[in-house]
Amino acid sequence: MGQNPTEQNKRVDILIAEDSPTQAEQLKYLLETQGYNVAVAKNGKMALDFIGENTPKMLITDICMPEMDGYELCRQLKACNLNDDIPVILLTSLSNPEDVIQGLECGADNFITKPYSEDYLLSHIRQIMANLQHHTERVRMGVEILFAGKRRFITANQQQMLTLLISTYEAAATRNRELIRMQDKLQEMNDKLEKMVSDRTKEIRKSQRKYLDLYDNTPSMLASIECFTGTVVECNETFVRKTGFTRDEIIGSHIFERYHPSCLDKVKKTFTQFCETGEVKNTELTLVTADGKELPVLMSSTAVRDENGKILHSRTVLQDIRELKQAQLELLQSEQRYKAVTDSAVDSIITTNETGVVVGWNQGATKTFGYNEQEIIGSPVSELIPESIQESELHVLFNPRYIKEHQLAGKIIEMQGKRKTGEIFPVEISISQWDASGEQFVTGIVRDITERKHAEEELLKAKEKAVESDRLKSAFLANMSHEIRTPMNGIIGFSQLLKDPDMPQEVKESYISQIDNATNQLLHIITDIVNISKIEAGQEKANPVFFDLKKLLEEIEGFFQPQAKQKSLELKLHSDLSPELARIKSDPVKLQQTLNNIVANALKFTERGLVEILVSASDTHITFSVKDTGIGIDPSMFDAIFDRFRQVELSYSRQFGGTGLGLSLAKSYVEMLGGNIRVESKPGEGSTFSFTIPYKIAPDPSGEETQKICSEKTKRYYQPKTN
Ligand code: ADP
Repeated sequence: MGQNPTEQNKRVDILIAEDSPTQAEQLKYLLETQGYNVAVAKNGKMALDFIGENTPKMLITDICMPEMDGYELCRQLKACNLNDDIPVILLTSLSNPEDVIQGLECGADNFITKPYSEDYLLSHIRQIMANLQHHTERVRMGVEILFAGKRRFITANQQQMLTLLISTYEAAATRNRELIRMQDKLQEMNDKLEKMVSDRTKEIRKSQRKYLDLYDNTPSMLASIECFTGTVVECNETFVRKTGFTRDEIIGSHIFERYHPSCLDKVKKTFTQFCETGEVKNTELTLVTADGKELPVLMSSTAVRDENGKILHSRTVLQDIRELKQAQLELLQSEQRYKAVTDSAVDSIITTNETGVVVGWNQGATKTFGYNEQEIIGSPVSELIPESIQESELHVLFNPRYIKEHQLAGKIIEMQGKRKTGEIFPVEISISQWDASGEQFVTGIVRDITERKHAEEELLKAKEKAVESDRLKSAFLANMSHEIRTPMNGIIGFSQLLKDPDMPQEVKESYISQIDNATNQLLHIITDIVNISKIEAGQEKANPVFFDLKKLLEEIEGFFQPQAKQKSLELKLHSDLSPELARIKSDPVKLQQTLNNIVANALKFTERGLVEILVSASDTHITFSVKDTGIGIDPSMFDAIFDRFRQVELSYSRQFGGTGLGLSLAKSYVEMLGGNIRVESKPGEGSTFSFTIPYKIAPDPSGEETQKICSEKTKRYYQPKTN
């Protein structure tokens, strides 16, 4: 109860009998806002108690309440003479005749049908309050009615009846209005609903058309195959279009008929796999077209199952991979073409990925580096570069970023490579960098330039030699003019003097001897030049004969003895040759010329001390050495002095004379005799020229005539120089 009726001091205008606290409070609030003093009782009994103590001006009561309902409350109130003039408003639904009869029976004054509008309720309350002022005579009538098979006796006054009738009418009218309003609303809702249904149907149809269109015209071929029977139950327009069969030909046919006979085994296996597992992914198969052609496809199938998990049919997607196959074929052909080109290349063509791992290798690379393709693919490119240069910048030559940063693409770089054997060799690399599928690669064309480098070095040497030869030639010419002019001047000068008829005989003879010497010197020079030319032209050959070696050696020693004496030098021959070596087979002329040249040099370049000729023999070879205590030779010149026109110091020629041809001739002759010549020397301490040649002993000393040694010739050539 919102307000305890017992604590009420002021007279209460309206008592509400209502068991629902929410409805009671709602009504109380409405009435209080209109200025009424309101009390609430929770049920009929509490309301009666309240009325007994307070006598409100009006009672508004609900019908259904615990303990005592609204009809009973009204009946008891009206039965009590003290309070029967308190008007009672029954809140009733008046939905059936029983309500009306009960209302009349209980003697209620007014009826408000639920649900009520607030204005309607308030206007009734105001009207009842106003009527309270004017007391009206109530004429009660007793009426017996038969209702629902029962006799009912109703006592009510006219006002009550009228109010009830009006209330009933108003309730009916209100209900009717409500119904009309509801009907309008329903109609409106119905219209909306119909529109929504129509719109939705349109949308569904549109969506259906869209999906059908999508199903039919998707680029992939779609089909549905009944599992176990293998019958095609559905296919899309793309399937029809691509294969060239009609839909009727396809649907109902066995799936095996749709494939080309060439792949039927694989199709059968795949279908069995699908029936077992319910799934097949990306399998390459070949469909057959209406004109019998092959149509390569990539097939994937998933199963549609019933509620027990049994496979009903497949959802199969077949992608036409003709273009892919063609592209693959072209790629293969292109790769083969590329391989043929790279393999036929002489140069190494090496490709690495961005981490410097070898991914491409041609036959040229195998020939150059020694690794075959299987050995090197997957290995780091540093295997092909010497360790010595890996620390420097060059080891990142196969790094794509490095190439970009240093703009090396297309440039030719010289560096060194390393073969499988570990051999380091010069290479020339031309690098290019390229991208594929987001990855970076480097291709290097590597050329082995060992031979070119060698040729370049040879060329350089030849050039240096040519320059040197030119220099030597100039020196030789200058020297030669001196060497020729000196004896020529002698000959001309002494010949002029001989014209004097009064010249004494002994002076004349001395002049003739001088002319003879000078002539021999000239002859020596010219002979050396002629011999060198013959050797170069390949006309000079060894001419082996049997001769007496001992005699030849003694003759040489004898010949040079006067010169040695003239320079106060000691000249000695040490020969431990056994008697059978008296006759050996070799070329005595070349041997003699060789020894003459070496001994003449020893005497020429020695100012004091000793010159020794040493000869020793083994079973097969004889070694000749000429040792002096002269000026010696720097070791750096040991090879050069055997070259033509070469003299250690050009100034020597002025001091010592000579043409620079003696040792060159000696070397050539020794080689012709099957031996080799060498020198040992220390500057200031003297030199030893040695050579070893093979020999043969004559089988019978009396068998062949021993070659005569032409000592006259020697004498002529090796006269000491007269200035
Ligand atoms: P040359 O006519 O100048 O003697 P050679 O070819 O016989 O020409 O000798 C070449 C050079 O070798 C000489 O000019 C000299 O410098 C050096 N040479 C040769 N023999 C000796 C030696 N016994 N002692 C020092 N130098 C020598």
